[in-house]
Amino acid sequence: MIRLRKPISALFALILLCATVLLAAPECRLGSPRLSAESRPEAQGPAPSVIMFIGDGMGFGHIEAARVAAAAAGRSLTVDSMPVRSRVRTLSYADYITDSAAAATAMATGHKTINSFVGVDSEMQPVTTILEAVREAGGLTALVTNGAITGATTGAFAAHVDDRQSEHEIAAALVSTRPDVMFGGGYANFAPSLSENEESAIERAMQAGYRVVRTVEGLVSASTLPLLGLFAEADFRFAADRDPVAEPSLAQMTARAIELLTGEAAMGRNFFLLVENDLIDAASHEHDVERMVSEVLELDDAVSVGLEFARSHRNTLVLVVADHDTGAVELLADGQVRFGSDDHTAQLVPLFAEGPGQERFSVDSIDNTEIARIMAEVIGVKVGDPVVAP
Ligand SMILES: [Zn+2]
Repeated sequence: MIRLRKPISALFALILLCATVLLAAPECRLGSPRLSAESRPEAQGPAPSVIMFIGDGMGFGHIEAARVAAAAAGRSLTVDSMPVRSRVRTLSYADYITDSAAAATAMATGHKTINSFVGVDSEMQPVTTILEAVREAGGLTALVTNGAITGATTGAFAAHVDDRQSEHEIAAALVSTRPDVMFGGGYANFAPSLSENEESAIERAMQAGYRVVRTVEGLVSASTLPLLGLFAEADFRFAADRDPVAEPSLAQMTARAIELLTGEAAMGRNFFLLVENDLIDAASHEHDVERMVSEVLELDDAVSVGLEFARSHRNTLVLVVADHDTGAVELLADGQVRFGSDDHTAQLVPLFAEGPGQERFSVDSIDNTEIARIMAEVIGVKVGDPVVAP
């Protein structure tokens, strides 16, 4: 497998990749996408809201396997009802094969960065994310995941650190950015640490006004913002193994987040909501077909909740995308699933879109950085500027 590392310049790597995909994707280019002023949405009425779903590690093969499983159970995938679909190029700044940190940073900020960097560009400069831009413009924001909320994907939307492993630092940064809703695992990274004299992130969160809930009952009953729900020490268990009293489903968390973001406290403001299924990647690394498929369906159920809201509130863009493929999943003629890799791959990943600005995604393929810029333009904010220290 070709794997370009830093000694070969990233620019060269990009040019090489552009050359190889030029026929299929003539829009491949190094600079910002050329978006004409005419294509911007009219700045009338309230700014659109965005619900973005990320299936960690979810390639086309994963979707196909879940589609076949759904059909066997007499249902179809909700993502298949979305009108626009495309393919996303995922390479990171210096590697053909990205990790979740660089991919999420690209989709949150519009910057290619080094694998393991979270919310910072390739020079380690913190750059504004779509979540921060919406918050700055007066909108509400939320992060939902069944992994640790301090993980690379959710972290890249609201924290700026150069090492995805620094999850205590990410916890503190999340609290500083102060999304209105945060639901996920990762309590251990918020908890007081005996070796530190510093305040724990959980103490900081409470000082910043967060109500903290740790059970499904708390998730359902808490109705004030900001709200921090930490339902597992680290990642959730797979949906197939979950204790439904301790750990909510992704669909339950998505529904509750939307209720809170559109309830009385929201006062009609627009919102940006990110929902990640972190466990598709985990099941794919383990070549666990059953759990991989059930996690894709778990994400699809959450997408149903988002789309149901968006279809009755037309000013909401719903995006479903992946950060990278994990496992090179292939469906064979006899219905068996084959994994071609036990790690991440450079395969293009699926994107589905519905709502205001959906036509902007109606292209053969798109770079992951363009997703950040298009979302920002649809909402009417700007991403990717250097973060100014407060
Ligand atoms: Zn992975």
